[in-house]
Amino acid sequence: MLETLKEQPADKILALMQMYKDDPRDLKVDLGVGVYKNAEGVTPVMRAVKEAERRLVETQETKAYTGLAGDPEFADAMIDLILDGTVARDRIAAIATPGGTGACRQGFELVRLANPDAKIWHSDPTWPNHLSILKFMGMPAQSYRYFDEATALVDFDGMVEDLGTVAKGDIVLLHGCCHNPTGANLTAEQVEKVISVLKERDAIPMIDLAYQGFGDGLDADAATTRAIAGAMDECLIAASCSKNFGVYRERTGLLMAISAEAGQTKTVQGNMNYLNRQNYSFPPDHGARVVTTILKDPDLRADWEAELEEVRLGMLELRKQLAGELARLTNSDRYAFIAEHRGMFSRLGLPPEVVERLRTDHGIYMVGDSRMNIAGLNEKTVPVLAKAIVEAEK
Ligand code: PMP
Repeated sequence: MLETLKEQPADKILALMQMYKDDPRDLKVDLGVGVYKNAEGVTPVMRAVKEAERRLVETQETKAYTGLAGDPEFADAMIDLILDGTVARDRIAAIATPGGTGACRQGFELVRLANPDAKIWHSDPTWPNHLSILKFMGMPAQSYRYFDEATALVDFDGMVEDLGTVAKGDIVLLHGCCHNPTGANLTAEQVEKVISVLKERDAIPMIDLAYQGFGDGLDADAATTRAIAGAMDECLIAASCSKNFGVYRERTGLLMAISAEAGQTKTVQGNMNYLNRQNYSFPPDHGARVVTTILKDPDLRADWEAELEEVRLGMLELRKQLAGELARLTNSDRYAFIAEHRGMFSRLGLPPEVVERLRTDHGIYMVGDSRMNIAGLNEKTVPVLAKAIVEAEK
């Protein structure tokens, strides 16, 4: 049987990571994979996470199974963090999932269970794993215009025009903040317009929130999600704790499903528990418990927020430095968008041959579509990258 298997296409980002590792040059810069790194190139365990883990080791008396939905306190704490009371709690069903990927997958599963004909509309481009999972599941998917290559900002007219053709009951997948891979995000006004189009078309939003706290701050980064969830009858939210708590490998995420009426929540919750049961029974608990411990303890929470803020401001500073250096070298504001983008990524809009030259001639690794991870830079490598971009473009 196994001899019938064919090679699967390699994950481009993971393949790039391997090439970087194999590169013998001393000066090389990894702007590939989506993991936060500090100025030393380290992805640290956050202080509050360490402390919460210490406490857990000391106090945890059992590793017996949680419920199928995971620990209800985790759901409560995350719902507070994300929605902050904008939606009545009794309209929200939630399950813990293995990371934000698990939340997206279970969200798609829930859509398929509820309405197998629903098409999933996604931004062009989007996180490639959205597309890969949808294809694997055989779900109908279609892109809407999102990114204007010329300005490296949101092509909002194109987006609205495409969303204007969405069919009743279709799902519109949106990034809550810090759009991956582009870094270009909707303004509050644009979000209001999207809400009116969603309502007009009778479409259902699904929000992927993987970087809360990486853009403009914890509350600001939840604003799009709060506005949409607060305005719509139904909404799905797939949240990840991987980045903002730095618990990548613990696989910590939450899927929320908001119903129009509180009376529907029990059945929705039952279906979500069922989906967890069919796929892996109980979701991972360690990361979720660490997150809950931090969110519920005022001191740990304050420390986590402070460290997250340092991370966020550090990335913003790198954005400003890079945009400034490129402005100086090109004598233009062509790259000013880098300072406007938010989150860990920016798509630079460089053609593939320039991305290739950056790698071969300068040891600078970014994804082929010219997405760079801003956290892969530091004060020393910002000028190196800026100079290399200008040279590679010649
Ligand atoms: N959604 C988006 C847009 C992402 O960028 C990521 C992480 N790369 C995820 C979801 C899921 O992350 P994880 O499964 O590691 O929590």
